[in-house]
Amino acid sequence: MNRSIYSGPVFQMARRQFERVADHVQIPEMERDRLLYPKRAIAVSCPIHRDDGRTEVYQGYRVQHHLTLGPTKGGTRFAPSVDVGEVAALAIWMSWKCALAGLPYGGAKGGITVDPYALSPRELEALSRRYMQEMIPFVGPHTDVMAPDMGTNEQVMAWFMDTYSMYRGQTINEIVTGKPVSAGGTLGRREATGRGVAYLVSRALDRLGILAGGATAIIQGFGNVGSVTAYSLAERGIKILGVSDHTAAYYDPAGLDVAKLQGHVAISGQLAGFSAQSLIDPSELLAQKCDVLVPAAVEQVITGENASELKCRILAEGANGPTTPEADSILHQRGDEIFVLPDILCNAGGVVVSYFEWVQDLQRLFWEEAEVFDRLYKILERSYQQMMARAKRDRISHRMAAMAIGVDVVQSAKRTRGLFP
Ligand code: NAD
Repeated sequence: MNRSIYSGPVFQMARRQFERVADHVQIPEMERDRLLYPKRAIAVSCPIHRDDGRTEVYQGYRVQHHLTLGPTKGGTRFAPSVDVGEVAALAIWMSWKCALAGLPYGGAKGGITVDPYALSPRELEALSRRYMQEMIPFVGPHTDVMAPDMGTNEQVMAWFMDTYSMYRGQTINEIVTGKPVSAGGTLGRREATGRGVAYLVSRALDRLGILAGGATAIIQGFGNVGSVTAYSLAERGIKILGVSDHTAAYYDPAGLDVAKLQGHVAISGQLAGFSAQSLIDPSELLAQKCDVLVPAAVEQVITGENASELKCRILAEGANGPTTPEADSILHQRGDEIFVLPDILCNAGGVVVSYFEWVQDLQRLFWEEAEVFDRLYKILERSYQQMMARAKRDRISHRMAAMAIGVDVVQSAKRTRGLFP
């Protein structure tokens, strides 16, 4: 494609990753644009009344990557970094992730360029509702199903669902996933991503012959994914040496008390103020020695500059796109030193349980929590085994193997369906 509206470092990263995989699996040039470029991108202006009486307009986006396998599916991000290129990259990664997990979805992503922490609860509700209102012509339970991502949560999903339902004149739970259980959500969705990360980390520890009881971990990001991962790893006997969020980073070689950290964040909304003793420079945290390093915040934190400094045995990517292609090359050169659990496998627990939520909402039949996690771990195990087998067969990195499986699935569906008209 000669020109497109997609630009920026995150989109370029998704494009470069795709090109590497396309070269590896030898996708003909003429099929590449069709696989990479999103089917639709929607940009909306969302005006709201601020508490001080001003009217402010926020830019919102939704990108639907492909509609070949079913509806699109993906989170909604409220963050100052959001632009159409970032949202498109996240939508593309969602496609490979859903395909690797065998879910009947294409990828999507949405977002608003806003600092959600700077809004009052009333302003956040107004903005969430206005965004969904603007998106009504483009989404639907069989077209595009939203979910939470950075800066959004169960409450925001409940407002989305309510706004859509009021417009349609009936309750339509299946329009979003990641809702509170009281609004048609599923048991286990809140913990799904973090518990999935912990499950895969334990599989990697087994493979490396490291006992969970003696293992250590560091986690960047202490929101939904980071905090649940910390708790789930600790539950498996792993000592949490370090955590960080956008306000502070803590490191203690004797181990941090995850329950106390969670209690502090529940009250103050951030890690800052937890303790004066174990503070560490956030940029140093990732380079501390540990068995498991979990980036669970933003993109592009493991880069060409710091990839050679990492001293972990397992890199478990809770965040989407935390490792740049330059860093990937360095990690690849380091051979077996670091076992990578790539994002599209490692954090797939969220979308898998979102899929379960959608299925339950459509059927009006709800499952016990044990059934949710039993089914989740089966899907993660299957995807993990497929990735390991492909990496061994083709002698490629775990990321390349995981992406190659995802891209293969989408390419083969597009070929089978043909080109309309
Ligand atoms: P969240 O908003 O609940 O939490 C984000 C956390 O990251 C917060 O603790 C925030 O303070 C921290 N953070 C932001 N900037 C940071 C920085 N520069 N350094 C350190 N910490 C920083 O978001 P989330 O849902 O936990 O999502 C985190 C990542 O996981 C994102 O990449 C998201 O796309 C990905 N992800 C989320 C889910 C899900 O189910 N929520 C599923 C798959 C992937």
